[in-house]
Amino acid sequence: MADTTTTEFSERLAGIRLRRTALWTVFISYIPVIWVALKIGGDGLAIVVGILWLLMASAGGVMVSFSLCPRCGNRFHMKGISTSWGSRCVHCKLGLDGQG
Ligand SMILES: [Zn+2]
Repeated sequence: MADTTTTEFSERLAGIRLRRTALWTVFISYIPVIWVALKIGGDGLAIVVGILWLLMASAGGVMVSFSLCPRCGNRFHMKGISTSWGSRCVHCKLGLDGQG
């Protein structure tokens, strides 16, 4: 059991939500960003942007996957080698809203 104050608990859940939002924003932005890169810079710029996007998506995926649950201290989204990006801790079922 993780030892946290109520404020720290809320801040850690907010951190997980922020990382998830950043990751989904990166995923959703792919097509429009590549489209804009193709329009203004052609294939060369699109390749550079695509590589940057891949790096950002990879970093975001790692940051989300390795987020620690403020209640149980385990990885919020990972159990063993499997990853679930659901809104509840895969170990103690704590929701991102602090319920559960
Ligand atoms: Zn947990």
